[in-house]
Amino acid sequence: MADNRPNIIFIMTDDHASHAMSCYGSRINRTPNLDRIANEGMRFDNCFCTNSICTPSRATILSGTYNHINGVTTLSTPMDNRTLTFPKILQDAGYETAIFGKWHLGMGPEHCPTGFDDWAVLPGQGKYHNPSFILPGPDGGTTKSVKGYATDLITDMSLDWLKQRDGTKPFCLLCHHKAPHGPWYPDEKHAHLYLNEDIPEPETLHDDYSNRSYAANAADMRIEDLKPNALDGEPPDNLSREEARRWAYQRYIKKYLRVIASVDDNVGRLLSYLDETGQAENTIVIYTSDQGFFLGDHGWYDKRFIYEESLRMPFIVRYPKEVEAGSVSKEMVLNTDFAPLFLDLAETEIPESFQGRSLRPLLQGKSPEDWRQSMYYRYWMHKDGVHNVYAHYGLRTHRYKLIYYYSDALGQPGTREESHPPEWELFDLAEDPCELNNVYHEPAYAEIIPQLKDELHRRQAEVKDKGVEEVG
Ligand code: CA
Repeated sequence: MADNRPNIIFIMTDDHASHAMSCYGSRINRTPNLDRIANEGMRFDNCFCTNSICTPSRATILSGTYNHINGVTTLSTPMDNRTLTFPKILQDAGYETAIFGKWHLGMGPEHCPTGFDDWAVLPGQGKYHNPSFILPGPDGGTTKSVKGYATDLITDMSLDWLKQRDGTKPFCLLCHHKAPHGPWYPDEKHAHLYLNEDIPEPETLHDDYSNRSYAANAADMRIEDLKPNALDGEPPDNLSREEARRWAYQRYIKKYLRVIASVDDNVGRLLSYLDETGQAENTIVIYTSDQGFFLGDHGWYDKRFIYEESLRMPFIVRYPKEVEAGSVSKEMVLNTDFAPLFLDLAETEIPESFQGRSLRPLLQGKSPEDWRQSMYYRYWMHKDGVHNVYAHYGLRTHRYKLIYYYSDALGQPGTREESHPPEWELFDLAEDPCELNNVYHEPAYAEIIPQLKDELHRRQAEVKDKGVEEVG
């Protein structure tokens, strides 16, 4: 009997913020192939990660659990490859599974990809030009160097794998790009994009962090402090801090957008292949990135904070059989929801241990009455010695964001900054969508704060995170 379950192509990039996608209204670039997925499917406007950092978000996406459950709280805690993940369950349920590209969950026998019929992954961050790949082999895999550009090669491997299938089983393909993670090295054909133009600046480029937490001030990720090799040179002499920031922004954002241009082209190649082989109708295509990114917003590059630009993930889904073309969902969905979604789409049971919820009803245009109205977030990498972002957790509702920088409550010694007492931030997103004004101490918000704290603690209990003893 023919197996009519849908195929899944799950494309994920690294650090691609939705405000650099034209289907999300980007002011700075065009992404026609990514837009095709949104135009022919559904765009999620409120998709959030539960910890805005690469390795932890990937572990959450694969396992459907928060980081305190899957143990991958930081960049230096690789995922135990015995962890229950959605590819393993799909493989057991008769799907053919593969991953090509970025893994970043550790290597070796205990951390290499498992649950895949085939795989080829970059070691660690990998390289853009002539990268090495790790292929299945003894002791967690064997390394092979390949000529070419990473984004093209990962797509080539994905297409080659699709072409050699015998087609009796449905498939689940993870095409996971390194791009647009820094340092940003474009391929030759995109190296000259944007040379003779100025990219529009973000509204908060010159944020001075006044009326905000100490943590926002202390973060060490201002674009003018990027190293000369990341900006292809030193700024001209005698620039003011503000001028240096504008100069760095242009250098930085152009490089970032050039590597995205290659992603867009290569997504187009996958979509064309589905069209040419008549598989577009029965294949779910999803595009996302492991978290958001600051594109000069608040004067920053990088991610980590619960602030909007790094919290928000792009999430677009095409599945002509169930999803209305050009539809948009404003419901709050999380990276914990992806694994349950994939299992649901494959008509496979979702394990109790998964903490997310399948968003398939949303894809079908329904909004369940009990869909979540708030979400819990936690960033664990306290003062990592590079970006100096303080550990924090928080709650986001559709209107408010409450953040607790618990830092010293854990008693962890700082590596770059003197210690600072814990502190709260509250943003009223309806009044202050750019999060420039912490209203935690304003009397007008005195009533809402205990309600938000109750909700925060309710969410913590729900996901079984003990949190810390709070002050203030
Ligand atoms: Ca990332």
